[in-house]
Amino acid sequence: MKPAREKTDLDVPDQLSGPRRIIGDRGDHFLRKVEGETGADISACYQCERCTNACPVSAYMDVNPHQVIRYVQLGWREELLRTTTIWVCLSCEMCTTYCPNNVDVAKTINHLRNMAFLSKVVPAEKILAVFHKTFVNELQRFGRVNEFWLMGSLNRHPDVLKEKIKTGALKEELVLGFEMFRKGKLKLLPHRCNEMKKIREICRK
Ligand code: SF4
Ligand code: SF4
Repeated sequence: MKPAREKTDLDVPDQLSGPRRIIGDRGDHFLRKVEGETGADISACYQCERCTNACPVSAYMDVNPHQVIRYVQLGWREELLRTTTIWVCLSCEMCTTYCPNNVDVAKTINHLRNMAFLSKVVPAEKILAVFHKTFVNELQRFGRVNEFWLMGSLNRHPDVLKEKIKTGALKEELVLGFEMFRKGKLKLLPHRCNEMKKIREICRK
């Protein structure tokens, strides 16, 4: 029988010889949870930044799309739910399309936005968060969104109205709305969709 060889510094430790795993500094629970709920292969990201380069609104984000993915790998839930990024994202899916590893970045960000929406974390972009909520409510009411009713519901929030008056956005909105109405592009009465049950089920999920 051959004697056991003494281990040297060049030997691979036992815990590293199996399949490689990415463990965040707060454990991988959050990573596994987001991967399980979205089906996105977030572990496959190698931080090439193509998603960020493809994103049309990354200049307005506090955490870039590739960093969002890294934060998920590291389990930085609170930091993610507080970002401007999750509210600024347009869900245009350019990031997902350009990812060489098929990481569904857009779906991940959308999922984080819903997580923030259901959490007690104060959103970084309060007005966008109110808009998101109002949009979903309107969708559940009529099955489609009527711009006139959407803006009416949004402007009923005192914080939103105050901000719009302060910045002059309300005046611009009224001028634009009138122009759209004049050209027949703004309907004053909403039409209810025939598939309301299905729409509500999708929103509930
Ligand atoms: S493009 Fe894909 S692999 Fe590259 S940083 Fe973005 S998510 Fe990661
Ligand atoms: S889905 Fe969001 S993060 Fe991705 S490219 Fe579009 S705006 Fe950027």
